[in-house]
Amino acid sequence: MEQNSDSQISWAPRLPFSLVRRLYKSFSIGIYDDELCDDVGIRLYLRCETFMRVWENKVACPVCRTVFKVEREGTSLCPNEKCGWSTDFNRYWASIRPFYAWPGRAMAAWEEYYEKYPTKKTFHEKMILIDQLIHSFHIDEKTNLPVKTVGSKLFEGKRKVIVQMLDELSGVEGSNKEQWREEMLLTIDKDLMENDPN
Ligand SMILES: [Zn+2]
Repeated sequence: MEQNSDSQISWAPRLPFSLVRRLYKSFSIGIYDDELCDDVGIRLYLRCETFMRVWENKVACPVCRTVFKVEREGTSLCPNEKCGWSTDFNRYWASIRPFYAWPGRAMAAWEEYYEKYPTKKTFHEKMILIDQLIHSFHIDEKTNLPVKTVGSKLFEGKRKVIVQMLDELSGVEGSNKEQWREEMLLTIDKDLMENDPN
């Protein structure tokens, strides 16, 4: 991550959609690009981490990286005694907007990815999790029904364009989603057996 010299709060940025498109395209022709998969996977992981922190009014100190909660009233001092950095809720709040870091009503999706990603070892396991995340939906507060894609929370660009690009990914995958996931799961089983020393 890039170093912040001016002690401003920063958040994990949205991803360029081109990264995901490249990942799906190469995968569709049988290339398992581990490096690209990890790049996308980790960027998404950090993005989810950002949402979870914002949800709890937490911040990673830009000086020493200690994570702590910013109180709504008064000044919040970094708990690291040697650090001395402080912020307040107005500055904290202002830092969120330029990064589009408000989590919206998709906390379950962010949380699931954030918890599961570090446990995923193989290319296929990571691909499934990435695929599930980027095709997740916001949940409507009243009806509890999925209402709109979370894509614009994760990727740069206009929402309409992102929705279209997400649809294109399904095209790249060829078969329908259910079948694609089933095939992925079968491949994972194969991966696991091949990696199993016994
Ligand atoms: Zn600090």
